[in-house]
Amino acid sequence: MSNFRFQALKETLNRKPVEFVETQKQSELFGRNVFNEITMRQYLTKDAFNGVLSAMKLGTKIDRKIADQVASSMKEWALSKGVSHYTHWFQPLTGGTAEKHDAFFEPIGEGNAIERFGGNELVQQEPDASSFPSGGIRNTFEARGYTAWDPTSPAFIYGTTLCVPTIFVAYTGEALDNKTPLLRALHAVDKHATAIAKYFDKNVTKVIASLGWEQEYFLIDKALVNSRPDLIMTGRTLLGHTAAKGQQLDDHYFGSIPQRAMNFMRELEFECMKLGIPVKTRHNEVAPNQFELAPIYEEANLAVDHNSLLMDIMGKVASKHNFRALLHEKPFAGINGSGKHNNWSLSTDTDVNLLGPGKTPMRNLQFLTFFINTIKAILEYEELMRAGIASAGNDHRLGANEAPPSIISIFIGEQLSNVLKELESVTAGKLSPQEKTDLKLNVVGKIPEILLDNTDRNRTSPFAFTGNKFEFRAVGSQANCANPMTVLNTIVAKQLKEFKIEVDRLIHKKDLKKDEAIFNVLREYIKQSKNILFEGNGYSKEWEKESKKRGLSNNKTTPVAIKAKISQKAIDLYQEMEVMSEVEIKARHEIELDEYSLRIQIEGRVLGDIALNHVIPTAVKYQNVLIENATGLKELFGKDFEKIAKEQLELIKNISKHLGGINSKVKAMVEERKKANVLESTESKAIAYCDKVKPYFDEIRYHCDKLEVMIDDELWPLVKYREMLLTR
Ligand code: ADP
Ligand code: MG
Repeated sequence: MSNFRFQALKETLNRKPVEFVETQKQSELFGRNVFNEITMRQYLTKDAFNGVLSAMKLGTKIDRKIADQVASSMKEWALSKGVSHYTHWFQPLTGGTAEKHDAFFEPIGEGNAIERFGGNELVQQEPDASSFPSGGIRNTFEARGYTAWDPTSPAFIYGTTLCVPTIFVAYTGEALDNKTPLLRALHAVDKHATAIAKYFDKNVTKVIASLGWEQEYFLIDKALVNSRPDLIMTGRTLLGHTAAKGQQLDDHYFGSIPQRAMNFMRELEFECMKLGIPVKTRHNEVAPNQFELAPIYEEANLAVDHNSLLMDIMGKVASKHNFRALLHEKPFAGINGSGKHNNWSLSTDTDVNLLGPGKTPMRNLQFLTFFINTIKAILEYEELMRAGIASAGNDHRLGANEAPPSIISIFIGEQLSNVLKELESVTAGKLSPQEKTDLKLNVVGKIPEILLDNTDRNRTSPFAFTGNKFEFRAVGSQANCANPMTVLNTIVAKQLKEFKIEVDRLIHKKDLKKDEAIFNVLREYIKQSKNILFEGNGYSKEWEKESKKRGLSNNKTTPVAIKAKISQKAIDLYQEMEVMSEVEIKARHEIELDEYSLRIQIEGRVLGDIALNHVIPTAVKYQNVLIENATGLKELFGKDFEKIAKEQLELIKNISKHLGGINSKVKAMVEERKKANVLESTESKAIAYCDKVKPYFDEIRYHCDKLEVMIDDELWPLVKYREMLLTR
């Protein structure tokens, strides 16, 4: 049979679930392949153990001797588990992960060999990095970049390889990866949040940012995906008529999980457990064949690594179960796309969640301090938050009635809104003893009970407070969480720094008590932050108008949105917080523009190919059948023919109309691509791809999808939506 579609469907329908049997309890598996504290205690000398621990907790340097000891123990541990290779595992600016494996094996002459892994190999490597994007930081002719061990994220074994999480930097010092700026942002937020936490508890010495991500994805049979060039090459369908039954009935959400998908999930969770990824929740999502997986939250750097690792494992396990896991933000038009909520909070080394209310008024004043400062930070840098989640894929989702809009706002719920209102009405300056008691008991003191029954959830908000954390909901499903986490932690660090300056000024200049000064500054912040708070429907047209009046940005496409990254304000921020230099910022901006253009270019090419090579020939084939039929009718009926063959003639004409449409639109799109390709600046090129090339996608698709419903089902070569979405 030459029709791939039917081959793929047959393969899928004959598929047996791939069995998976857990061999051990999850609690026994957890972290088995991680060089974690327990393993380190077992394998390291006391000196080495303390050296690594203080590097992890305090950021101290590890000296050569200790590095040698750690490497040798790591090797011993890895060899005991059948490992033969090691790699520096890093996250280049392509968004994925990279690894180059080297064997431990080393010949030592005279036909002998040993397994070697020393401090040198552990601490630093020089991958041939000339092919990773650098935004012009590193001249390709010298291509010098190196990876360096990040002891805050433990080494792990993946397959038969020991993976050492590393940062990736140019020899000139600039970051070439996603992790380096994140680590700097986490350092900044630690520094400035600790200073504020000390107002409330002198014993705090460190503040840790936490991240709990929720990963959405589609699971589609491998054969079906492989039969569609668009899914293979772009991760999304570029054409396909909507299925008669999609998600209208809401019968998929939290529904029972199909057996094949269940087996996949169990094996995925098994692999995650071994790698210390604390996966906890799995469920069906809104769209057919869409699912979600979420772990328990972790320290942000580790959580980012774990999410990157997960996306990789997912692909491998899916393949074993004859699936492809689609991570694209919008694989199918007309049904929900996928996102990755980033739940975020700050906690102290004294185990206090700074965004969780507590039992005493003082604890709650601390909560309000961090809560309101976060709000203020988002207000100041809303455009940067939007820029931090921009990608060609996510552009399809934001504002498309399913995901939060491209306007950043904050939802806090009715009760906290009331608390803020009460705080706002506090008199400025010194507080009377009565006022203080009142405030502490009746406003701040009431918070915990309030939040317990704070169950209102506004799903249309991009940034929502959910009881003891904020949830950044606009992040794309393919994104590396390092980007939004770098933005968020940097802007909060900066805001807390400003806050401290203000509070200290009031204490010294106005002779206010500490808590009075804090109340005073918070009150001002509440007044200033009103524009970013929004409790209504974020998907509505009214909000688009209203937010514009409030001066909030609404940057709908990536090339426009990411411009905020290179504004003077952003450059000043990142430099002041020591997160990125101007060179690094501009390089990243270039890379993102470039990536955007490339993605749209690839989509345009693939769509053109499918339309010309699949759709048109099929339509012509069917049209020929109709013509043959009409000719026969003419022979049979003579002059009555036109009446009798009316439908066929209509169809023949209609097919020609859509064929013409496809031809002319593909031609026009190719012309626009040519024009875009010769543009000098990466920005004009990206804008041209966005505004001139991309609009043709919908037009070409329109004609193709019309033809899909006209043409004999038996001839249609591409697996249809209903087949991809409803086949299990
Ligand atoms: P939802 O209704 O959105 O699923 P949950 O309360 O179940 O909300 O939590 C969702 C995610 O939030 C989980 O992955 C969880 O680990 C994470 N989370 C909970 N507390 C924190 C925290 N303090 N910091 C970061 N993430 C957190
Ligand atoms: Mg959520």
